[in-house]
Amino acid sequence: MAESPDELSRLPVTVLKGVGPKSAGRLTRLGIETVQDLLFHLPLRYQDRTRVVPLGQLRSGEEVALEGEIEHVEIRFGRRRSLLVHLFDGSGRVILRFFHFSAAQKNALTKGLRLRCFGEVRNGPACLELVHPEYRLLGDEDRDMEETSLTPVYPTTEGMHQLTWRDLTEKSLALLRDSSTGLKEWLPADLLGEYRLMPLTEAIAYLHRPPPDASRQLLLQGRHPAQQRLAFEELVAHQLSLRQARQSHQRHRAPVFDGDDRLSASLLQRLPFSLTAAQQRVLDEISRDLRQSQPMLRLVQGDVGSGKTIVAALAALRAIASGYQAALMAPTELLAEQHLKSFRHWLEPLGIQVGWLSGGVKGKARKLLLEDLANNKTGLLVGTQALFQEDVQYHALGLVIVDEQHRFGVHQRLALREKGVRGGLFPHQLIMTATPIPRSLAMTAYADLDLSVIDELPPGRTPVTTVVISDQRREQIIERVRVACAQGRQAYWVCTLIEESEALQCQAAEDVAAELQTALEGLRVGLVHGRLSAQEKEQVMQSFKAGEIHLLVATTVIEVGVDVPNASLMIIENPERLGLSQLHQLRGRVGRGSVESHCVLMYHPPLGQQARERLAVLRESSDGFVIARKDLELRGPGEVLGVRQTGEMQFRIADILRDQAMLDAAREVADRILARYPEAAAPLVKRWLGGNSRFARV
Ligand code: ADP
Ligand code: MG
Repeated sequence: MAESPDELSRLPVTVLKGVGPKSAGRLTRLGIETVQDLLFHLPLRYQDRTRVVPLGQLRSGEEVALEGEIEHVEIRFGRRRSLLVHLFDGSGRVILRFFHFSAAQKNALTKGLRLRCFGEVRNGPACLELVHPEYRLLGDEDRDMEETSLTPVYPTTEGMHQLTWRDLTEKSLALLRDSSTGLKEWLPADLLGEYRLMPLTEAIAYLHRPPPDASRQLLLQGRHPAQQRLAFEELVAHQLSLRQARQSHQRHRAPVFDGDDRLSASLLQRLPFSLTAAQQRVLDEISRDLRQSQPMLRLVQGDVGSGKTIVAALAALRAIASGYQAALMAPTELLAEQHLKSFRHWLEPLGIQVGWLSGGVKGKARKLLLEDLANNKTGLLVGTQALFQEDVQYHALGLVIVDEQHRFGVHQRLALREKGVRGGLFPHQLIMTATPIPRSLAMTAYADLDLSVIDELPPGRTPVTTVVISDQRREQIIERVRVACAQGRQAYWVCTLIEESEALQCQAAEDVAAELQTALEGLRVGLVHGRLSAQEKEQVMQSFKAGEIHLLVATTVIEVGVDVPNASLMIIENPERLGLSQLHQLRGRVGRGSVESHCVLMYHPPLGQQARERLAVLRESSDGFVIARKDLELRGPGEVLGVRQTGEMQFRIADILRDQAMLDAAREVADRILARYPEAAAPLVKRWLGGNSRFARV
């Protein structure tokens, strides 16, 4: 049936006997349209029904096939009525327990009959049990009805039974066997040899029906060579799709920033510090990009406090010096405001107008702002997502800067980019993130971006000492706040409350603030949370910065960006609820001045083993890279990389943590395919990303 190469990638599932419109509909919901898709729908795990385990060797927790003779059948009336079937086989005994059973079922199970069962072994009250196992009566003729492979268990959807999946994959495998060209091997033969990869068809067939001696352990972990081979191809396909996105992006034209350096020189001269070598290097990388007529697409990674903002400001000056505008977008209003202040402080003395736009800017102010923007009076616009609303028109947007990009989706970045399209020119893009991830990982997750890393903190920082303390010592901790404030320091008290609604969260933070105000008579306690208006927040932050407030109670809204060097103590309530990278960000709010800073992680006991381990990481390390790597291990890439991972970059087989060792090779292979076998790129992307290749548009 399958004659031309890669036939199965076009053959609809409906060619399989038994697949009518109804099951085709169900399959479509899982993204399965072709026979190829079915073949790539791989089992989640496997059962071993090939081996009958003697009853004497059963162990709790295992899923096994077993056989035995019925010794005794009884109905127990306990809290729940149950049917107990006692089996023995000479080596041991086991009980089958049924809570739901019919009279007919019970009557069919009589002493002396032999049963074949499959199920999970558990510890029962008296001995090992199987609850509701699959079972059938054994006649002599069944003796050798053995399974010849491990039994696959497929990810499924309502209305699709495992037996259906086995049937469909069996038929697809038959088609695959019938034709050597049914699934095209797109990875070139020399690469397969070089990386010692199993041929595609062999890997697929193996994974659907592994032989009895296959290692279920390896299979379960996704580390079997057959899975690794597919994971590798998937990683290559992802690289290819990102690379394509990048290439199509680079076909666009961007403004060349060829203005002189006077503005930057003047800013640098007025700064109370000089750039670190790492900042200078990254700035050079950016400046080089900005002199090209292709749009820059660069990610700057740098730990909390590494000084990304000034680098962004200097990049903005390059745009402005060449007659273009820049826009800076931050994920929260508080962070955006913080940037606004820094940029006004740095740029206004140079005669550059810095505009502000958030959802709260309305009416006349907004109208004026939009006018200035359209007339090129505003050189830099700072704000939140509001920056890419439809009626915001720039005169000549040349550079888009996005802070903490992992909180934004690709589409948001795109929308902002579209703003710049003017006379066919696209703006350059600079993305900054404080979630440093290992380089090979970053190059996979962000293969469509160039990467710069600020891998050095400015000198003179004193590391933050972190302690992990139970909230049973809350009073002592409050006392500690009093002492610090009496010495002229300031402190943060962060409430990480998980409440159903933001309103409740803010209420809870208000309660804490009230409690602390009572306990800390004579000190001024301020409060910021997400429900305050921008103005109110600004006011509180301003007084905190000015030293009028001693203790700032806050929800995690202060996570990023807030900069108050005199604050040297931070208490984080219930840190066990947050991810490590987030805690690291929070902690980055202290240790910004020259005094020694402390962070108290005040957990609520009892603390589980894993939580204990996680908090220990924070106590022992202040290196964002180390922490992010640990966070990745503990929580997985979805949480750490944010939307990009969860919504826009899901792998079917690969796991970028588990398969880290293959990432570099996958990148290299993608390069070689593009250079030498470009015709393989599109089909590989289609095979693995299908219609989901969202990056094709980026
Ligand atoms: P982040 O990378 O977390 O965004 P910021 O840009 O907010 O860090 O910088 C943190 C603090 O360090 C700011 O107060 C900033 O002015 C200061 N800073 C930046 N670069 C340097 C430097 N080279 N030397 C000293 N201080 C610096
Ligand atoms: Mg920052």
